[in-house]
Amino acid sequence: MDGFSHPSRNAPDAPWHIGVTSKSPHSTVTAKLINGRAIADSVLSEVEAAVQSRLANGQRPPGLAVILVGDDPASQTYVGSKRRTCAKLGLHSQAFDLPADASQADLLALVDQCNADASIDGILVQLPLPPHMDTTSVIERIDPRKDVDGFHPYNVGRLAQRIPALRPCTPLGVMRLLGDSGIAVRGKKAVVVGASNIVGRPMALELLLAGATVTVCHRFTTELADEVARADILVVAVGKPGIVDARWIKPGAVVIDVGINRDAAGKLVGDIDTAVAAERAAWITPVPGGVGPMTVAMLMHNTLQAAELAAGR
Ligand code: NAP
Repeated sequence: MDGFSHPSRNAPDAPWHIGVTSKSPHSTVTAKLINGRAIADSVLSEVEAAVQSRLANGQRPPGLAVILVGDDPASQTYVGSKRRTCAKLGLHSQAFDLPADASQADLLALVDQCNADASIDGILVQLPLPPHMDTTSVIERIDPRKDVDGFHPYNVGRLAQRIPALRPCTPLGVMRLLGDSGIAVRGKKAVVVGASNIVGRPMALELLLAGATVTVCHRFTTELADEVARADILVVAVGKPGIVDARWIKPGAVVIDVGINRDAAGKLVGDIDTAVAAERAAWITPVPGGVGPMTVAMLMHNTLQAAELAAGR
């Protein structure tokens, strides 16, 4: 036993179980682990059931186009996982692999082709794109109704105006983690560290939509420790291990670590020292096995949603 108390679905011997140990022999580790793998599995089961129901009603499966440019190994891994998950759930997945020296015009033409293809409900362009490409204009070229990453300004604008349509996968996944863990957001002080278009900013919009009082910290924030110490709900998405000192965390806080980094030994670590944070937090996401599995699960959820919207539902 690792000293955590586990919520009901988190059996101590489950395969995701991680042995977070306290550095101090006298400390009391109290945080409950938020089991991202189990919650992602329940999202995937819901999507699979909805796909089966569509097929039983004579409808086509939701279709996802996954576009990869170049041969970045991390991107290949992510794309491979998305394509395999589509196949497992019965979604129709179309793979488009462009060479690293493909032109911006080639990529835009492919996006146009996918926009016009009625068998494709969702278009995912794996980021980052090679440096000679303009990411913003590629994202803006995607039909917002097929923007299953939720990055198009139309979809971000809808989220900002409290009329969300397709929502960015990682922040949406975090909200699902909170909801499924029974963690209330309304009225809480939420602090988001990191302000990227992909995670930090839409995360702040999601928390605001859910009724939190939200602070966003970024590279120009001067008193990061003070901001973190105020958080009832802390979300860290920077990509720098140790950017938030776990000793700053307010006792009893909910800590969501979005960061994915490799330490010197090649081990996957988040942005926060989980063992130290677990001595102060009430709830915490492990890395791996916390937010990571939710991103692909919410992509599948969004593809189904796009297909349902296309069918007028
Ligand atoms: P990103 O685009 O590099 O953004 C990082 C953000 O952190 C930027 O807004 C940056 O500020 C901010 N930042 C940099 N230094 C800072 C500092 N000293 N204090 C406060 N903020 C600072 O990265 P991202 O795409 O948002 O991803 C962040 C992390 O989450 C990465 O580790 C990534 O691998 C991980 N991630 C995980 C998942 C998942 O599924 N678990 C999904 C996506 C990303 P500026 O805006 O001023 O540059």
